[in-house]
Amino acid sequence: MTSTRRILITNDDGITAPGLRALVEVARDFGEVTVVAPDKPQSGMGHAITIAEPLRLYSTREVFESAVAYQCSGTPVDCVKLAVDKVFDKEPPDLVLSGINHGSNASINILYSGTLSAAMEAAIEGIQSAGFSLLDYSWDADFTAAKHYVRKIIRRMIERPLPPRVFLNVNIPKGPLSALKGIRVCRQAHAKWEEDFIERVDPNGRKYYWLTGVFTNFDEGEDTDQWALEHGYVSVVPVQFDLTAHHSLSLLAPWNEENTQDA
Ligand code: MN
Repeated sequence: MTSTRRILITNDDGITAPGLRALVEVARDFGEVTVVAPDKPQSGMGHAITIAEPLRLYSTREVFESAVAYQCSGTPVDCVKLAVDKVFDKEPPDLVLSGINHGSNASINILYSGTLSAAMEAAIEGIQSAGFSLLDYSWDADFTAAKHYVRKIIRRMIERPLPPRVFLNVNIPKGPLSALKGIRVCRQAHAKWEEDFIERVDPNGRKYYWLTGVFTNFDEGEDTDQWALEHGYVSVVPVQFDLTAHHSLSLLAPWNEENTQDA
């Protein structure tokens, strides 16, 4: 008899997010679920950690029926770090799942995403992990089709673990299950947000700014996550946290030098 698989679930939309609940409902069938999620929305926090103030971890057993749950005052990455060290008592879980995020984390969004940074932190810790996102920002989003694919992907990860230091960025188009065409394994599209700050004036007559923008895809490739999502496919991007531009190492190799001065 094999021991029970231990699964940590977190997100960046906060412990009350319906997307988190949807992920717990799926993960429950694969093992013993523990939730450690932020006590407030943490979208856009990327890989931020809390170092200048204390972190709080509160047990919130009433939130989920069959999972032990804690809410944390920190960022998604804080949640993973604290969970591994304190909740799991340095006995890391077998799987870390993050999401299901309310909104896309495809392409460059991965860098801003707390959801994906939580998965990345798990990969840094040597734990199998994935971040899941539904292309629907609304709080009342329908996670039915997303849950179907999340289940499939978790099953695949368990059957065949990812290589060390690799994790998954999974994005799921909005819509009913019948509208989704399948799964595409792809690369991250070259796309970005073209910023536009709305300028307003506060009641004291001082200017303030509100970030807004348009997401622009510069990538015409049909092997990207953006292409897959625009064509009704679930995108699966294998991701690594080694940001070295390996293809540029030889280009910069002539910069190498040895100090030949005598000591
Ligand atoms: Mn989010």
